[in-house]
Amino acid sequence: MTESPAPPLQPVPDDMTSFFWDAARRHELHLQHCSSCGTYQHPPEPVCSSCLSFDLGGAPVSGRGTVYSYEMATQAFHPAFADKLPLCIAVIELDDQPGLKILSNIIDLPADGVSVGDRVEVCFNDLSDTIALPVFRLARA
Ligand SMILES: [Zn+2]
Repeated sequence: MTESPAPPLQPVPDDMTSFFWDAARRHELHLQHCSSCGTYQHPPEPVCSSCLSFDLGGAPVSGRGTVYSYEMATQAFHPAFADKLPLCIAVIELDDQPGLKILSNIIDLPADGVSVGDRVEVCFNDLSDTIALPVFRLARA
C-alpha cells in the first residue's frame, strides 16, 4: 500500500489574526500594535500587555531583526514536514522594538548554518493563493 502525501498544514486566520495573514499575503509583515501606547506585541492578544488598552490593530514592521534563539529540527513530528528537514526553527527579535520577538523559520541557510546574533530579514513562503507564511533568511549585506 502506498501512502498518499500528507496534506499541507496551513494557518487558519481568525478575527484576531486576519490582519497578520492579510498583510502576509501581500508579502508585508504587520504585527499587532496598540494605538494608545504605541507598543507592538506578538502573538496578538485581546488586550495590550503594556497599557491594558483594547485599541489594537495591525501595523507594519521592518521585517529585519536578529536571531535570538534557534533549533535545527531533524525529525518530522508531522508528515507534512518530512520533506523540509533539516528545518531551522528560530526566535527572531525584530528591530522595531526591544523584546519584540516572532517565532518563525530561517530558510536558505548556508553550509555553515546560522548563529545567535545573525542578522535576518523577512521573506514569504506562498503556501496557497490565500496564505503566505512569513519566514526569514540571512540578511544580505
Ligand atoms: Zn498599549
